[in-house]
Order: sequence, then C-alpha cells, then structure tokens
Amino acid sequence: MISVENLHRSFGDLKAVDGVSFTIDSGRVVGFVGANGAGKTTTMRIMATLDHPSSGRVVLGGHNVVHHPAKARRILGWMPDSFGTYEHMTVLEYLDFYARALGYRGKERLARVQEVMDFTDLTPLADRMSNKMSKGQTQRLCLGRALLHDPQVLIMDEPAAGLDPKARIELKNLIRILSQEGRTILISSHILSELGEMCDSLLFIDKGRIVHHGDADTLKRSGQNEQTTIVNVEVAGDPRALQNWALTAAHVKILDETKRGARLCIDSADEQIVAGVLRRLVTDQILVLDFHREERRLEDAFVDILADLNKPKPPPVPVVLPPPPPAV
Ligand code: ATP
Repeated sequence: MISVENLHRSFGDLKAVDGVSFTIDSGRVVGFVGANGAGKTTTMRIMATLDHPSSGRVVLGGHNVVHHPAKARRILGWMPDSFGTYEHMTVLEYLDFYARALGYRGKERLARVQEVMDFTDLTPLADRMSNKMSKGQTQRLCLGRALLHDPQVLIMDEPAAGLDPKARIELKNLIRILSQEGRTILISSHILSELGEMCDSLLFIDKGRIVHHGDADTLKRSGQNEQTTIVNVEVAGDPRALQNWALTAAHVKILDETKRGARLCIDSADEQIVAGVLRRLVTDQILVLDFHREERRLEDAFVDILADLNKPKPPPVPVVLPPPPPAV
C-alpha cells in the first residue's frame, strides 16, 4: 500500500532525508521513530503530497504522489503535528466545512460528519468552539478531519505529543479500531514503548536514513540480551569501592549510585551467570537489598542501534599483493 523508494530531500546543504526506502503492506500499522530533526516530518510531508522530494519516489495505493497527487490524496488521511482550528467555528461547522470542501453534499455530508463525530467521540462537543478545546479533544478533531473522506492510508505525525495518559489511551484505542478496519497507518512518535504496543513494526530513522525496520519483540531481542537483572546493593564503607568491584565482575555495570550503595545491572539472561554474580556479591560482603528481572526496553534497543552506527569503523586493511614471479 505504501512504497517509499530511495527518497532524498535537501534544504541547501542539509540532507534532511537521505535515501529513505521502506514498504508497508495493506492493513499494517507502522511506527516511525527518530530523534528531533531525524527527518520524520520531512518524509511524511512528502508522502502527504505537501512537499517535493529532491529525488526518489513515493507510491500510495499505486499512485505516485508527485505525478498523481490528487489521486494519492483521495486515499490518504494526513494528521499534521501542529493543527490550527478556525475562530468562531464550532466542531460541527468545522467538520462540515471540510466535508463540503471534499465534495460531500446533502444528506451524505451530514451523515459523514455525524459518523466521524461519533467515532472520535466529539458528538457531545458538536457546538463547542473549535479553538476552545483541550489538547486531547483538538487531536480528536484533527483525526476526525483526516477521516472525513474515509481514507485507506493514514499518516499521523506525532499524534500523541502533549496528550495526558487518559487522552493517549483514547487515541490509542481509536488507532486500534482504524487498524482493525484494515487501514494502513504510519505514526511518528517519541513515545517508543507505546508505539511498540500498537504497531506491527517500527521504522527507526537517524540523520535522514532508516537504521532499522522490524517488530518490537525482535528489536528488544536484537544485539543485546532481552532480559537484564537489576540489583540494589549496599556496602559498609565507601560506596565508590563498588566501582572497582564492578570492573572486576563480568556482565555487571553500575546503573546509578545510591546513598550507601548502587543499582547494578547484570546484563545476561543466563540464570547461571545471574546466580554467580549474586553469589559473588554475598561472598564479597556486599549487601543485596533486592533484585528483579527487567525486560529490555525499546528505548534501550534504539540507543544500542545508534551506538553501533556511531562506533568508529576500523581502518581498511591494506591489500598486500605478492611480488610478481621473477621473469624467466
Ligand atoms: P521532530 O521530531 O523535531 O519533529 P523530525 O524528525 O520530524 O523532527 P524534520 O522536521 O523532518 O525532523 O527535520 C529534518 C531536518 O530538516 C532538520 O534538521 C530540520 O531543521 C530541517 N528542515 C526541515 N524542514 C526544513 C525547511 N523547510 N527548511 C530548512 N530546513 C528544514
């Protein structure tokens, strides 16, 4: 349903999008993750026909967004990261205005607006001024507007930004229903843990390049251990002595220092290794206050991917050719 091929977009010397390629099958929900300035909005704006690529192409449902923008827009719902409403317009008038602009007329238009208001739970706010609503309500109105023409593809730029936990859950539920209806959805966000729950896969972008595309579970397992053990310890003397101790213990690192000890991480899923470290703590008279297993978080996986990318590459080994055989 979505195909992005070798997309480039430069602003002067800045390569905001630098060879991005990915495909998303129909009915999939994909999270688009990256730090500020990584290139998410630029990529999404091109996909939404709002900007032109320097090179490369985007095809939505068979329509090239540069060559056939009107056809692409017909199947595309776009939810921008910042959203303005009009003064002196109620929720109902606002949606009705867009429904008219989209070509809906008469009863069909009223039915469409009502359907969208019911879905986004805006019916009780139909007469509320559209610029006098909470952030969560405004986001629902923005989603409602994007859904008016019943698009098969939804592109949502940071829809959960600034929402309180309750509004985030409401939004997540709406996204779940939209995906169950078979829509293809691309959502950007910084809230990785939430994206992991609702997305079939995650696309990680860094400095305009895709650095990973996979599902959340595989990602948590990738590179390092899926599980770690966190141990809270105390020492009788100077807690800084723990640093030397940690240097001599395999699989152990200090996460943070506490008043009389530290929080340690045993970076292994192997029970024998974990038991060995705990035994050593006891024999070395370090008081174990408590310990528990922790799943690797998506954030950690992302940080590891970036760290791997930024590792200095070893210099290329020069190829030494054998001397030519002496001439006979
Ligand atoms: P954020 O999470 O902060 O929204 P992002 O991943 O969406 O970040 P983009 O908005 O795509 O990042 O920006 C990518 C880079 O391109 C940034 O360095 C940004 O400053 C730059 N950029 C974006 N739009 C323009 C523009 N119109 N003119 C010049 N530079 C731009």
